[in-house]
Amino acid sequence: MIMSTKNEQLFAQARKHIPGGVNSPVRAFAGVGGTPIFIHRAEGSKIYDTEDNAYIDYVGSWGPMILGHAHPKVIDAVKRAAEDGLSFGTPTPFETTVADKICEIVPSVEMVRMTNSGTEATMSAIRLARGYTGRDKIVKFEGCYHGHSDSLLVKAGSGMLDIGEPTSKGVPADFAKHTITLPYNDPQAIKDCFEKWGEDIAGVIVEPIAGNMNMIIPEQDFHDTLREQCTAHGAVLIFDEVMTGFRVGLGGAQAHFGIEPDLTCFGKIIGAGLPVGAFGGKEEIMSCIAPLGGVYQAGTLSGNPLAMRAGIAMFEDLTVDGFYDTLADKVTKLVDGIQAAADRHGIALRTNTLGGMFGMFFVQDENSTTPSNFDEVTQCDMTIFNTFFHGMLAQGIYLAPSAYEAGFISSKHTDADIDATINAADAVFARMA
Ligand code: PLP
Repeated sequence: MIMSTKNEQLFAQARKHIPGGVNSPVRAFAGVGGTPIFIHRAEGSKIYDTEDNAYIDYVGSWGPMILGHAHPKVIDAVKRAAEDGLSFGTPTPFETTVADKICEIVPSVEMVRMTNSGTEATMSAIRLARGYTGRDKIVKFEGCYHGHSDSLLVKAGSGMLDIGEPTSKGVPADFAKHTITLPYNDPQAIKDCFEKWGEDIAGVIVEPIAGNMNMIIPEQDFHDTLREQCTAHGAVLIFDEVMTGFRVGLGGAQAHFGIEPDLTCFGKIIGAGLPVGAFGGKEEIMSCIAPLGGVYQAGTLSGNPLAMRAGIAMFEDLTVDGFYDTLADKVTKLVDGIQAAADRHGIALRTNTLGGMFGMFFVQDENSTTPSNFDEVTQCDMTIFNTFFHGMLAQGIYLAPSAYEAGFISSKHTDADIDATINAADAVFARMA
């Protein structure tokens, strides 16, 4: 059992000059309560707090660490890149290599532009969709997160098929009125929306597998309808694969569903842990970006050589035959083991998995089905989740500190890690039963 007061001290110190003590809200443990762990190093499947307590990590820096922490090949590439200079503000051959790799692996992407974060990628893709179509309205889905740009921090208005309302102070209602928010996984809502607003919609942005409301794999019909309606009405279909790209499989969620979006956003994995994002798609649309066209988009550090060279090193492992099968086997073993433990102790658990990503829902009772939209996720038992989270943490297992986040595994997680995690879950469930 890990016992430490050091994290409390560090958190108190951090809160003095950093709002909430964190540089991204979910790190503050606001939903689960308690004190965040302060990590000072990581290796393979484990992260270590400042007293060197080890935690088996299923957050992986919120997705990027698919090869595990401090992977020697990636670290070596970054060291060599640093020795060659940190940033030049010119084109580099490394950006071209990463762009070529993405276009080679993801057939819907013919051209791609690098950014510094997923937020920049989605924000730019939205601007591009508007510039390309000459229309203002965009559609997003309830429970999907696309970063923190103004037009995407919007929830559904008071009535279905109404204009949106800001979910953050500081977002003008005038911006939000151009964003329509629909329920996830609901083909009829998409049809109704296009019937009403069709000719005004510039684009639809969607997490093709939602990882920001735990993990929801939507019905094929949802994506078929989206593709069909966007094509019929001349709207740009944007897949936000910042999380799912190179995570649920080499070709991402679009390969899983067999859908070709018009634009795709990436982030997380492509920088192997360094700040990065990218958006790409059809040449006809991408050609509207400056300097080729009139849609402005830029970045002092975009395509940064450290991030690009880390990404190139990482792609070498991702493209090895069987990489994603092995990853999926690890996830299946982990999630099946936790499910069996939950069943043994009468805890109502539902799960989803694909590639190196998983979701776990503590549903209301044994008759409940796996949640398939945001409303159903909110009905899960958050008290049970919080007890589970803290019980696991005390035994050295780090899960996402929120019931609305997906879990991630790396190629460095061993059978011993997975067995230890299942045993820890069994012990926590036994106490909860
Ligand atoms: N899109 C999705 C699906 C995400 O999960 C995230 C972040 O978690 C973003 C966009 C924003 O990316 P970033 O945090 O790099 O700005």
